[in-house]
Amino acid sequence: MHLSEILMHLGEDRHNYFNAVSPPVMQTSNFAFDSLDDFRQAIAQEAQQPVYSRGVNPTVAILRKKLAALEHAEDALVFGSGMAAISAAILAHCKADGHVVCVAKPYSWTHSILVNYLPRFGVSHTFVDGTGPEQIEAAIQSNTTLLYLESPNSMTFELQDLEACAAIAKKHGIPTCIDNSYASPVFQNPIDFDIDMVVHSGTKYLNGHSDVVFGVLCGSYETIGRVFAGEYMTLGGILSPHDASLVIRGLRTLELRMQRTHESALEIARQLEGHPAAGKVLHPWLPSFPQYELARRQMTGAGGLFSFYLDADTFGQAERFFEGLERFLLAVSWGGHESLVMPATAFYGVPGREDSTTPWNLVRLYIGLEDPAWLWEGLEKGFQYMRG
Ligand SMILES: *Cc1c(COP(=O)(O)O)cnc(C)c1O
Repeated sequence: MHLSEILMHLGEDRHNYFNAVSPPVMQTSNFAFDSLDDFRQAIAQEAQQPVYSRGVNPTVAILRKKLAALEHAEDALVFGSGMAAISAAILAHCKADGHVVCVAKPYSWTHSILVNYLPRFGVSHTFVDGTGPEQIEAAIQSNTTLLYLESPNSMTFELQDLEACAAIAKKHGIPTCIDNSYASPVFQNPIDFDIDMVVHSGTKYLNGHSDVVFGVLCGSYETIGRVFAGEYMTLGGILSPHDASLVIRGLRTLELRMQRTHESALEIARQLEGHPAAGKVLHPWLPSFPQYELARRQMTGAGGLFSFYLDADTFGQAERFFEGLERFLLAVSWGGHESLVMPATAFYGVPGREDSTTPWNLVRLYIGLEDPAWLWEGLEKGFQYMRG
């Protein structure tokens, strides 16, 4: 289906609501029935019909259809955060005394669920450098129940070869799940490479306006039906109808926003590559990126997120960059309208959040929808103050 059809029309049965162009917010927790027969029938089909809004809600259902289609999946569930979607996907595919193979350096709280939470239930894990598929195969054990990928990751952007990983997992009869937040469905569709499940922090590009936290899990009817009756209904980490309507609005401009952020970020990354105050730039769309060929093979763009090393001699000098920097907000997250900067040092000395694998002079930029030339002036201010 064409991207335009999905973003502007799919799932919107306008004749059901006065041909309103924008779908109504069905702000209700509950649905009533005309007869006992209808009531019984609906309860028997709670995964398809509105009965109670922890299950099916019509506004949320519109969003589910769009997101499933965006990821070339049969169905999707939306959750109250990316982590609710990720933990539902993982919990649905692990068992006591089982084992999860996960790519090294996943999102911090994904790391946390494997390291701090699941061991309580006897679930072990192996983190594996996913840049070579053979390393992934070597990590698979007889009790492995899930291969979890994140390609690219959101700090240093290592990729996995999706087709090769899917083939290895199929050979061993293990389901695969990928966090596709970085690329968005506009630039990468992992299901086309035979990956089974796709999760997103929809907080980032999908909503795109820094005003909703939500997540999505896409997969087959079988998987989504199982997760609906399992983690979705029992753990209950749902999205409100109001937030769903905000996301439907955010999606209208998804394609435009992705193109803009991709082009602006690439322009700034190229400028940084030649800048004396910047060291190596980590951006999958630059020919200098170690997995540039693979990125070009399985993605059609890279979006607005990338990192670079400050050419600073001391920690203090690096800190001066952030003091002088203008027009970028100092913050976590990304994917909204506004440009952001996040130093690796933000997590230094924070118990439980420290990441010893990230060098102190690594800086992550998110390029929003502003004019890239105007943003560049703000970066220059930071460099001047650092050097001055
Ligand atoms: C932000 C993020 C998450 C978590 O999503 P929330 O919506 O904040 O729960 C997961 N994966 C990646 C790559 C992220 O950037």
